[in-house]
Amino acid sequence: MKIGIIGGGFMGMALAYRLARRGHAVTVFERDNQVGGLATYHDYGPFFWDRFYHCILPSDTHLIRFLNEVGLGDQLRWTRTLTGFYVDRRFYSISSNLEFLRFPLVGLWGKIRLALTILYCARIRDWQRLERIPVEEWLIHTCGRATYEKLWKPLLLAKLGDSYRRVSAVFIWSYIKRLFSARDAAAKREHLGHISGGYKAVFERLEKLIRSAGGDIRMGVAVKHIDPRPKGGLWVSHDQEREAFDKVIFTSPVNVLQEVAGGELVRVANGEGGVEYLGVVCAVLVTRKPLVPYYVVNIADGRIPFTGVIGMSNLVSPQELGGYHLTYLPKYVLSGDPFLRRTDDQLRRVFSDGLRLMFPGLTADDIQGLHINRAFKVQPLQVLNYSSLIPRVTTRHEDFFVLNTAQFVNATLNNNEVARAVDEFLRDYGNRLEDREVSAGSPAACQERLRGSKVVIQ
Ligand SMILES: Cc1cc2nc3c(=O)[nH]c(=O)nc-3n(C[C@H](O)[C@H](O)[C@H](O)COP(=O)(O)OP(=O)(O)OC[C@H]3O[C@@H](n4cnc5c(N)ncnc54)[C@H](O)[C@@H]3O)c2cc1C
Repeated sequence: MKIGIIGGGFMGMALAYRLARRGHAVTVFERDNQVGGLATYHDYGPFFWDRFYHCILPSDTHLIRFLNEVGLGDQLRWTRTLTGFYVDRRFYSISSNLEFLRFPLVGLWGKIRLALTILYCARIRDWQRLERIPVEEWLIHTCGRATYEKLWKPLLLAKLGDSYRRVSAVFIWSYIKRLFSARDAAAKREHLGHISGGYKAVFERLEKLIRSAGGDIRMGVAVKHIDPRPKGGLWVSHDQEREAFDKVIFTSPVNVLQEVAGGELVRVANGEGGVEYLGVVCAVLVTRKPLVPYYVVNIADGRIPFTGVIGMSNLVSPQELGGYHLTYLPKYVLSGDPFLRRTDDQLRRVFSDGLRLMFPGLTADDIQGLHINRAFKVQPLQVLNYSSLIPRVTTRHEDFFVLNTAQFVNATLNNNEVARAVDEFLRDYGNRLEDREVSAGSPAACQERLRGSKVVIQ
């Protein structure tokens, strides 16, 4: 079966690898000049590492199985990590139960309610009910108003800006659930993992495996249209060419789906009233000394222009980073926010001001480089009743499928969910990718398919 995959992010590449191994003729179309999408890599000068920060949790079973399957299991490294909190110009470690008990921002009763909320989150199964409750209402109800005002509200504002008012309780429930699954149940300690070499190593491996199974990866090729062919299958058009496929699987964001696929394939709303995305600007610091001892510092301080501090070199050894330390400073905003469109120099100034406030001891000599990375379509905003807005996997056309992160209705955005989505897609629809080959597999049909497989648009 000739299968076109739109998008060469982790979803598209993982899917292509699995399908190529099943004997399908896959072609991946990737708009950028390198594969990887949001998980791709960046040249920081002395070393390459992920454009955005990535860690692996011990509970990421789908992802870990996938990494083992592609032969990278022995490259997984686990590290004990710490979590911090920044408030009132001070850093607090909240990495153990004792530290949590000492955390001054929340009183004892507030802490008990917080701990109960975390336990409660692990037990919730009926997430659909949470979709109908605004996150603010739910947090006040479970944790109390004082804890909400001091702890949760600054965090929601930092992560979602004013849009937090429209977001459902699913957002915070899935966030808490994932966060606490990083803790070792017995030792109550946080352990996080990474792949030696970062996601660059993962994508290089996938590229090699897909190509050696006969697959094709086209980089720098933006798909413009996907149209039905009269006798089944689809045309994929890009620049001056259109190519015929038996099946097409779309993995890019919803706004692209709306642009490239007509109403006869799929109907989906994008933007307000439909799927809205948060984008991210991430300043990435390469320094000669570490900034923080934590992997994550959550920030509850409106004067700091970034949402958190991610001390990557507390997870990845500096040997892997050319002897330097790597710190990510993300700021999430709605994808239409003008902040995302500021120049690199303007953003450098904003982030440098925040750095001076938070790390007064950091000097210019300590900094080897300050990079600005950004992405416009990162995380769909989980508004009330979000699951009613998303594109379905199966579409109006039997040969066209959509598999993208907008479909994560009860989970945070992460690559374990991507690996899970790929597993479940193949389990549920794998046989539909085989069907037509049987019915349309006559020698004449095959010849027709080969003849029609590459057509230059006049
Ligand atoms: C700041 C940040 C931190 C993160 N932290 C973690 C973490 O700690 N752990 C974790 O597991 N995950 C993390 N993630 C999430 C992880 O990066 C995503 O789950 C993953 O990258 C999603 O992959 P995807 O293929 O579904 O989407 P994408 O990566 O968005 O891929 C879509 C691809 O489609 C391409 N495309 C778009 N339009 C077209 C077109 N017209 N034609 C062809 N191609 C097109 C794009 O260029 C892109 O490559 C993080 C993400 C971000 C941004």
